[in-house]
Amino acid sequence: MTDRVFNFNPGPAALPLPVLEKAQQELLNYKGTGMSIMETSHRSKVFEEVIFEAEDMIKDLLGLDDQYQVLFMQGGASMQFGMVPLNFLPKDGVADYILTGSFAEKAHKEAMIVGKTHVAASSKDTNYDRVVAENEIQLSDSPAYVHITSNNTIYGTQWKTFPDFGEIPLVADMSSDILSYPFDAGKFALIYTGAQKNMGPAGVTIVIIRKDILERVPSHLPSLLRYDVIAEKRSLYNTPPCFNIYIVNLVLHWIKENGGLEGMRRHNEEKAALIYKVLDRHEGFYKGHAQKDSRSLMNITFKLPDEELDKKFVEEAAKKGLVGLKGHRSVGGMRASIYNSMSKEGCEALAEFMEEFAKKQG
Ligand SMILES: *Cc1c(COP(=O)(O)O)cnc(C)c1O
Repeated sequence: MTDRVFNFNPGPAALPLPVLEKAQQELLNYKGTGMSIMETSHRSKVFEEVIFEAEDMIKDLLGLDDQYQVLFMQGGASMQFGMVPLNFLPKDGVADYILTGSFAEKAHKEAMIVGKTHVAASSKDTNYDRVVAENEIQLSDSPAYVHITSNNTIYGTQWKTFPDFGEIPLVADMSSDILSYPFDAGKFALIYTGAQKNMGPAGVTIVIIRKDILERVPSHLPSLLRYDVIAEKRSLYNTPPCFNIYIVNLVLHWIKENGGLEGMRRHNEEKAALIYKVLDRHEGFYKGHAQKDSRSLMNITFKLPDEELDKKFVEEAAKKGLVGLKGHRSVGGMRASIYNSMSKEGCEALAEFMEEFAKKQG
């Protein structure tokens, strides 16, 4: 497989090679059924084994018990931006949002369509170069829930510890760092994530929900917009994205075989350190976007001295098989997305390239 590049795309993003190989092996004849899992009924025992196993494995990896349920949905994280307030923001209530990046803003905008919101904290005034400190957060009187974004994919910042608001349900968009390190998932009432960064292909959205809040879902919503309906049917209310769920299941096995979330943490810390070390060593040349104590282990954002060099960096990196490094337009510069599936080898290659580039051009 020498023709595979090191893929630093932000999402859809790299998948573990063993996962792709396994899917390739099983593609035409899944476990002796004589058909692809893509061609299998979602009501079959064969598929039920896949989806229910994936559900259990996610709970296992996150250390969650039966107070929680895992749902497989569609519409991406963006659909959740609207579904969370539709289900949990009552007419007379207020939902609190903590703004630490563009996706947090988008989530907030969708909630404003549904009902009343309050911005409890924001780091917008410094172009989202950090997450917020707990003592900056000013909640409204009695929020229906508080919404945060655990990893800010575009800006390259990540929460290091999560705030605790006691009984108030905490909701998190964890699209770009779910399953990348161990954390206390039991603090959250709802976690959602599009799969295409850290869990699988685009097209399936994973929601982890504490069952007690399902009672709050209003009955006036159409069925597919109701978490309680989807939970009751174990994500089989209608046809789920079967193949994507199958790939997610393979990714979960890969995570487990590689030391679970503790293994992922070690792997991700080592990888990120390689690249941040080069940034810090050449501080005059590379300018990191994130403040140091908010640095993400998943998305590393930095600029070069001018846009000409940005362009040259991207071109020369691509020649070395390092692709997907161009940053998002709202930050500019570069972004290296190094989710679970990015190998240490890929990060070493990038660090080495950055070192050489700085020496040559700096
Ligand atoms: C990518 C991303 C989204 C958007 O996900 P879609 O699945 O495209 O809707 C939302 N939030 C975060 C944190 C993301 O990284």
